[in-house]
Amino acid sequence: MLSEGRAYSLKQGNGRRICQKRKTINKQGGFTLKQLLWIDGHFQETPSYMELRSPFNHEKLADVAVASREDVMAAISAAQKAAKIFAKMPLYERAEILEGVSTILKKEREECARIISREAAKPIKAARAEVDRTIMTYKFAAMEARRIHGETVPMDAAPGGEGRVAFTIKEPLGVIAAITPFNFPMNLVAHKVGPAIAAGNTVVLKPASQTPLSAYKIAEVFERAGLPSGVLNVITGSGRKIGDLLVKDERIKMVTFTGSPEVGKNIRENAGLKRVTLELGSNSAVIVENGVAVDKVVPRIVNGAFAYQGQVCISVQRVFVHSSIFEMFVDEFVKETSKLVTGDPLKDDTDLSALISVGDGDRVRDWIEEAVSNGAALKLGGTLQNGILQPTVLTHVPSNVKVSCEEIFAPVVSINPYQTIDEAIILVNESKYGLQAGIFTNDIHHALQAAKELEVGGVMINEIPTFRVDQMPYGGVKMSGMGREGIKYAVEEMTELKLISFNTN
Ligand code: NAP
Repeated sequence: MLSEGRAYSLKQGNGRRICQKRKTINKQGGFTLKQLLWIDGHFQETPSYMELRSPFNHEKLADVAVASREDVMAAISAAQKAAKIFAKMPLYERAEILEGVSTILKKEREECARIISREAAKPIKAARAEVDRTIMTYKFAAMEARRIHGETVPMDAAPGGEGRVAFTIKEPLGVIAAITPFNFPMNLVAHKVGPAIAAGNTVVLKPASQTPLSAYKIAEVFERAGLPSGVLNVITGSGRKIGDLLVKDERIKMVTFTGSPEVGKNIRENAGLKRVTLELGSNSAVIVENGVAVDKVVPRIVNGAFAYQGQVCISVQRVFVHSSIFEMFVDEFVKETSKLVTGDPLKDDTDLSALISVGDGDRVRDWIEEAVSNGAALKLGGTLQNGILQPTVLTHVPSNVKVSCEEIFAPVVSINPYQTIDEAIILVNESKYGLQAGIFTNDIHHALQAAKELEVGGVMINEIPTFRVDQMPYGGVKMSGMGREGIKYAVEEMTELKLISFNTN
């Protein structure tokens, strides 16, 4: 097992320095991790490194490798070389590796949670929940690996098809480039690497620059679980530079991307004929009808709005409440939100910590000011201190200000009243995004109307839009993306259907 304290070891390979990731002593006598690239089953040096710092206290966490063009090419070559062999690995062996990953993660849950918490400023209880979900995601990937199959095709259902016996098989695509965001650095990697490996593909993974350590930890875990060299490669550095190299390389057969709509659009435009799945952003909404138990619904929505500082693609950003219960709802909502504890992400009682970057803090403060100057009422929060934005509640927010119509990705929620269900549905749909939406109602007709008319990838009835379990189909419409994740559905996207027909005439 590679642990943070493992001694430096060095060997020569392919004319390049290949060594284990290691700790080096820094000037204060503490330790700083030097994180190398993971290519072809080895931690590998590169000439350039960048400092990784905690978004919370700016403590230095590591020096992280910045992959050169040559490193990117080496990672793609390793993945391409491994693809031929890995495609032949029987399903049960792929499944056993994925099961092994789940088992190791279960044993090392706390270590993994602390990696996430430190690099992403994710409150430790949320980081533990992410590790638990990651374990489930790899379990589902193992299950799906065992049931990848085609079907028989009734060829003689068409004239001319007589005497033909045909069936389909699902083949791996080859090398997949996986590009992931900062906000779920383990589970969103699992949503790409898990199905890719279940389906027999090889992967070049480019995690977000702020959260590389979770991805390198996963590479190490896969190696210990028996994954052959070259099947999973991890490279770090600026997305703009590395991303472009990956997206344009002819050897890459698919790009699976989770991140912002701007980058997603750019990838789509540059990917040529490659398969592309895009899991992008949103400004998710929930409708609250009269007659629902406000005391039960409010804590759920508060959780959906503020968990991990609102930096979740399906965070509740817009709440539409029936006018008859609006005032009561807002009072309860403010009371419940006031209970949230802000501070050090590594403390057990912390609910919210620092935003991912100083720039995001400034951006969000400007957006709140814009909303207030356009007539919104600030009911709570709005202050930014040491990178932590106090959970912020706005009411009577015009639909054309940024806190409403753009993805805020911060702990800010807008609450507005509505009169009729038709109006509420129009308000939810008045968005360029469409990932998930929720409705709390006791009226089955309204629930079914919402299910039919809401323009999103998933409708959550009597639930927040933030709800997700990892086996369900998940993805968006409009600017929220294309394609679906959720292991079974991702395996579909990551395999090629081949028809085989026997002429028995
Ligand atoms: P981001 O800035 O778009 O970055 C995502 C990834 O893309 C990072 O690895 C980034 O690398 C890389 N990248 C940047 N520019 C690139 C380029 N030109 N070509 C290829 N890759 C490039 O997103 P983020 O701030 O990390 O994450 C937040 C966003 O992700 C939000 O919009 C959120 O809604 C979305 N998200 C969506 C889902 C979903 O399932 N729908 C889930 C989670 C998050 P660097 O870090 O090096 O720039």
